[in-house]
Amino acid sequence: MFEFESLPLANRFISLSGEFYENTLPTPLPQPRLLHFNRSAAELIQLDPDQAARADAADYLCGNRLLPGSQPVAALYAGHQFGYFVPQLGDGRALLLGDAPGADGIWELQLKGAGPTPFSRGSDGRAVLRSSIREYLCSEAMHGLGIPTTRALSLVGSPLPVYRETAESAAVVLRMAPSFIRFGSFEVFFYRGQADEIRALADFVIAHHYPQFADSSDKYARFLGAVVVATAKLMAQWQAVGFSHGVMNTDNMSILGLTLDYGPFGFLDRYDPGFVCNHSDEMGRYAFDQQPDIGAWNLTRLAQALTPLMSVEAARAEIAPYPSVFASSYIDLMCAKLGLPADKDAVALITQLLDILAKNRVDYTIFMRKLCDFGTDAQNLNAPLRDLFVDRAAFDAWAALYRARLLAHAADDATRAERMRRVNPKYLLRNYLAEKAIAAARDHGDTSEIERLMQVLHSPYDEHPDMESYAAPPPDWAQHISVSCSS
Ligand code: AMP
Ligand code: MG
Repeated sequence: MFEFESLPLANRFISLSGEFYENTLPTPLPQPRLLHFNRSAAELIQLDPDQAARADAADYLCGNRLLPGSQPVAALYAGHQFGYFVPQLGDGRALLLGDAPGADGIWELQLKGAGPTPFSRGSDGRAVLRSSIREYLCSEAMHGLGIPTTRALSLVGSPLPVYRETAESAAVVLRMAPSFIRFGSFEVFFYRGQADEIRALADFVIAHHYPQFADSSDKYARFLGAVVVATAKLMAQWQAVGFSHGVMNTDNMSILGLTLDYGPFGFLDRYDPGFVCNHSDEMGRYAFDQQPDIGAWNLTRLAQALTPLMSVEAARAEIAPYPSVFASSYIDLMCAKLGLPADKDAVALITQLLDILAKNRVDYTIFMRKLCDFGTDAQNLNAPLRDLFVDRAAFDAWAALYRARLLAHAADDATRAERMRRVNPKYLLRNYLAEKAIAAARDHGDTSEIERLMQVLHSPYDEHPDMESYAAPPPDWAQHISVSCSS
């Protein structure tokens, strides 16, 4: 186990030329206070979790004091934002400190909100406490759900005022990922006509993240194909769990298929396919049901950026499997959630279910969790499920089809229920839960809610009898929370 001083930090990314980043030091954060420390993320880099108890822990974790070996850089990237290309974005408020070895691979450590960089474009380089708590908790919630994501090691708060719609206070999250490289990291060089940089970046990514392709004659195409598959699978997981990212710009799309850059995200409460969590997204470009198509659109932008390394035909061939990979992954996940063997024939059952859930405004997560206890015996009306519907006849009609399918294909009720509970979460980071944790931290300096949520969200498939209320649907005040991009 390492101490802060002995963490063997290196920085692979700076082996790339200076075209790819700007050396940038964090801006000191006044009166930093460690609000939360994530022991499970610390273990990934063999950092002794007891380091969090040190008086100078907050200084290390917000960038006031640099971890030895840090070589902080802000990375350059571009991106398509809401469909329009922005030729230069880059880490405007993130700094890559370096990377640390873990038992299962190398983790990059990145500060988010550590002050302006050459890519800040006139903004302050800070993140507010509200959005930092949301990113901190949601990345860990996604991990708990088994969905690929960046991780979060620590949350540091400060009284420093940060001005958004109103004055808020600043915070810094220390994030971790095998790589923070985005689709936009390639797009910036395509736009500039810098084919050598595209090749260098692709070689870097292949060497460190897709080494299985390093010796292939068509390694760039295979790398693209792997990103296509990873993205399709990620979209299937988002759709199956009911997660809406909110800002699927190409600069927020990970080349490893990780959920990246948590902004105005939201989990579905009632099943609403057209749900738009980001109140700045007036056209609904990133509505919940658009996400799989947007994933494909974004991959096309990545493929275009890689065309200096392969023919257009080769790039097209790599993207072509996206719809079928998405569809089969989604069907597999949904069949598992229904307790059925994966089978394309179940599509009608899935579609019909989603249709009646939407029409009856039924809470998606609560329904799916209760469905684990569906009883197949003929007399069982399954009242706990049926009562969630206004149109009971619609539920009964679907339940009859479901029952028949279970009897033909599934294990006995108890075995199936047990299996279904491992894929239908009881706990999600619903917006109202995040809001409660934010209010307690902001108004009373009370971080106990963050700790409770972290515990329950790290194992969302288990029962937590003393935390039953955290599985409740949103109260009336929280029915219409929409979240802004100004984080
Ligand atoms: P996002 O929508 O959060 O993914 O951010 C889009 C771009 O804006 C990225 O290049 C960010 O680094 C940059 N950005 C967002 N907020 C800030 C901020 N407060 N200061 C500087 N840059 C920012
Ligand atoms: Mg971003």
